[in-house]
Amino acid sequence: MHLLEGIAISPGYAEGVAVVYNYEMDYRLEFPDRDISFSEIGAEHGRLDDAVKQSHHELQQAQQSTSGPTGHTDSSAVLAAHSHLVHDIAAQVKQYVSRELVNVEQSLDSVIGELVERMCQLENVYLREREQDIRDVGRRMMRHLTGAPRFPHVPLPGHTVIVARELLPSETVELSQAGLAAIVTEQGVKDSHTAILARSLGIPAVTGLLDVTSQIHAGMHLLVDGEAGKVTIAPSASEVAAFSKSRENYQRSTTAMAADEILPCITQDGTEISLLANIGRPEEVEQIGIHNLLGVGLFRTEFLFLESHERPSFEAQCEIYAQMAKALGDRPLVIRTFDLGGDKLPPFLASLPSGPHPSRHLRGLRFSLAERLLFETQLRAIVQAAQAADVRLLFPMVIGRDDFSRAVAAVDGAVDKLGVLRRPPLGAMVETPAALFALDEIVEMADFVSIGTNDLTQYMLATDRGAADSADDCTPWHPAVLKAIKQVVNADADKNCPVCVCGEEAGEAEFASLLVGLGVRELSMTPVRAASVRHALR
Ligand code: PEP
Ligand code: MG
Repeated sequence: MHLLEGIAISPGYAEGVAVVYNYEMDYRLEFPDRDISFSEIGAEHGRLDDAVKQSHHELQQAQQSTSGPTGHTDSSAVLAAHSHLVHDIAAQVKQYVSRELVNVEQSLDSVIGELVERMCQLENVYLREREQDIRDVGRRMMRHLTGAPRFPHVPLPGHTVIVARELLPSETVELSQAGLAAIVTEQGVKDSHTAILARSLGIPAVTGLLDVTSQIHAGMHLLVDGEAGKVTIAPSASEVAAFSKSRENYQRSTTAMAADEILPCITQDGTEISLLANIGRPEEVEQIGIHNLLGVGLFRTEFLFLESHERPSFEAQCEIYAQMAKALGDRPLVIRTFDLGGDKLPPFLASLPSGPHPSRHLRGLRFSLAERLLFETQLRAIVQAAQAADVRLLFPMVIGRDDFSRAVAAVDGAVDKLGVLRRPPLGAMVETPAALFALDEIVEMADFVSIGTNDLTQYMLATDRGAADSADDCTPWHPAVLKAIKQVVNADADKNCPVCVCGEEAGEAEFASLLVGLGVRELSMTPVRAASVRHALR
């Protein structure tokens, strides 16, 4: 036997037979690239429209076949997001064709390349990993433009373990319908859609295994341990027996976890903990019902800006926020104003004719205060949505009294301008060391606070939140970060200002338990993680 150790990104145990899939090598899409004349623009746009139609049709079909059992609704949501992306990308490709006078394949390749490059530079792992979806959608559209064949391995032999350099989200959905047992890849991360889907579909996955597509050959017998991140090649009989035992134990505990999902999150001493969702796209509101969550604790609105070549209008934003609020019924929707600046600049600001953007060194709320027009438009749209629903406003990277009070004044301005009565509850994210020193002033003004442990950890411990190999002590478990969290809980208790933790770690069952021990009563997390947190807390 031979043991490979990687990173576990989807839990569970599977025994099966390897099918090696290397899309880039085996099915690389060749496409023609050529200049076109002005008179050919219409024809190229027409070809793109056909590819868009076919992509939509394919995604709709896939969505229909995933709707049904609860576990597959995550797949359906990802496919729905891909349908939106097809539309957005096509609009940008058309502009590119007309502007650069090159054929549609070359334009699509360039647009995808630019979007991916911009996404890859982001610090925020959640947003950065969306680049996989963009490549996935781009590949689908290119396939329709070039007439290349569809995914080749369907149907799969029983108990297939797919071994790939990388698996894209829609491939994961397609393969899961074809009877996939486990995923083993060279590249992949915990917060990608592929990993999220694998978790919700119950498919164990291990990644970070360099050269695995050359080490494992088709037909090899494999044991995949998605708990420890291990893959055993050609196991002995005793290894198979030990593996089966671990699998049985795991199945028992996941059955108990699934049964808990419909129950309230109450600890054995009767303390109620609110579990909320972190989402980054409007269609993800569906997840709240599926995972029995109490509402949205963090809606990151950056996607609206980062994927758009124009400033999102007041009307467009109103519609998005209102639809989300409607889908949530009487559950709260906490909308965080755009957290841009630094590495995160929308295309319409990144490419100013006058050179580099003057506010690019600013981050979070201070960037918003410098980008007045963009900020005020978003505030008005949120205030408007808050007139008929439980919509709350959250500001990112607050550093103290000055920036927070200017944000509050901007909201008052939006209320006046709209001529409405209701100002939504206002929250401050505590995710900078400065905010810790200004806590008393912040909780005095805020209606609630939300601790962002992702940024708080990186800024307190001088670590890089995106680095996969960051040292073990550079995590929210560090005593300094725990003391900071406790300090926020204490300050809020004094002022009766509710505190939520919405960093990634709130979705880890052990850390969530520790947070509750520290006095936190609201946790906001990636929805698929809620089941294990609920189970642990109960
Ligand atoms: C955080 O920093 O913990 C947080 C929730 O915000 P984001 O991940 O969007 O920066
Ligand atoms: Mg943050």
